[in-house]
Amino acid sequence: MDDDNGTPVADVLVVGAGAAGLSLAYRLATCGSTTVTLVEPPEGPLRPPERTWCYWAPDPDEFADAADATWSRLRVHGPDGTEVTVDPAPLRYRMLRSAPFERLVYAALDRHPGARVVRATADAVREVPGGAEVRCVTPEGRTLALRARRVFDSRPPRTLPPARTLLLQHFRGWFVRTCAERFDPAVAELMDFRVPQPRHGLAFGYVLPLAADRALIEYTEFSRAPLTVDAYETALGHYCRTVLRLGAFTVEAAEQGVIPMTDGRFPRRAGSAVFRIGTAGGATRPATGYTFAAVQRQSRAIAAALGDGRASVPPPYGRRALAMDAVLLRALDTGRIDGPEFFTRLFRRTPAERLLRFLDGATSPWEDIGIGLHTPVAPMLRTAIELPFLPRRPRPGPTAAPRREESRR
Ligand SMILES: Cc1cc2nc3c(=O)[nH]c(=O)nc-3n(C[C@H](O)[C@H](O)[C@H](O)COP(=O)(O)OP(=O)(O)OC[C@H]3O[C@@H](n4cnc5c(N)ncnc54)[C@H](O)[C@@H]3O)c2cc1C
Repeated sequence: MDDDNGTPVADVLVVGAGAAGLSLAYRLATCGSTTVTLVEPPEGPLRPPERTWCYWAPDPDEFADAADATWSRLRVHGPDGTEVTVDPAPLRYRMLRSAPFERLVYAALDRHPGARVVRATADAVREVPGGAEVRCVTPEGRTLALRARRVFDSRPPRTLPPARTLLLQHFRGWFVRTCAERFDPAVAELMDFRVPQPRHGLAFGYVLPLAADRALIEYTEFSRAPLTVDAYETALGHYCRTVLRLGAFTVEAAEQGVIPMTDGRFPRRAGSAVFRIGTAGGATRPATGYTFAAVQRQSRAIAAALGDGRASVPPPYGRRALAMDAVLLRALDTGRIDGPEFFTRLFRRTPAERLLRFLDGATSPWEDIGIGLHTPVAPMLRTAIELPFLPRRPRPGPTAAPRREESRR
């Protein structure tokens, strides 16, 4: 069987070359004889701009060549200014920029004789005998039908699944350069609650030092609606000048994004030969927005299954982790727990490596109970008891497209 190009049908067709599509294509290109086609739209509104992806992993990290920075210690500041600095060894916090990661993956695809990249916009995916067909439009406007035995689709979902709770993690960040040396490059500040808190949800600063005089500094909220650019800029200006006391600095670039935090269930299967991966398949952890590490685990598992002649996409997170996230999201949304106090206490009371494993959904039931006991038990229990009786309601479309802007101010 050939597709429209007269090319033999690939074993796997991956739609979308973001975090999930690139990661799966990379695994398939580096670990086997599977033939793979990666479909990515040309430059334009569907293509996300360059982004940063953070995750934690022990040394040696296989993406070290694409890493922009790593940190051996993590810090949280409580609302009252108390500081908790922890060492998550053997894990390190890591930041990749999407452009070097793309280069690493495309180089691996170049080396794999069974891989090809098609610049086209996928339009419709349908099952056909022996696999599935993806209808695409090329940059020249030509229609192309690509076939494969299995299709893994990472296009962002148009609508979110029905959910009991939907919060948004929305943020804007500045890449700043300071005149004096203001940062400790060994320490990443994950949550700094010394910022004014919104009436609903919570807000925090996030500081990733890239050198003693350079950092990515973000203002983030978990709440129901994104802010205007002006409102983010005001909040960032206040954080940099009044809380961090950076002195003179310039903003070299800005990054902005919205990540849905929802207890909706994302279906991973769209047919017998069509699967959803990445955020579209539920790889974004509801309580944190982290996705990259889950995407790596899932890509490895998919590649291993395909190597054994099976097609399966394992759930990115276990049921227990998702149930706990649903409770936390609702407890935050209803205002039953104080978010800044909750997260600061969690960091203060839980060994850092265990907390990061917990966020990856990799802790044992006993460890989860121990962590649960460090949370406000009564409001969390009340929320857990009422959750099964609450309906899941349809939710509007997910996000504004993330943006990254180069600027000199
Ligand atoms: C600004 C920002 C920062 C983030 N930072 C982190 C972080 O630090 N750590 C973390 O774990 N998570 C982070 N996230 C969350 C999550 O990791 C990212 O959103 C991640 O990129 C999700 O991967 P994905 O592959 O599911 O989606 P995407 O990376 O968005 O990829 C989707 C791909 O589909 C393609 N596409 C769209 N339409 C079509 C079409 N019609 N045909 C073909 N292709 C199409 C797009 O071009 C894109 O390449 C961040 C999110 C944002 C927005």
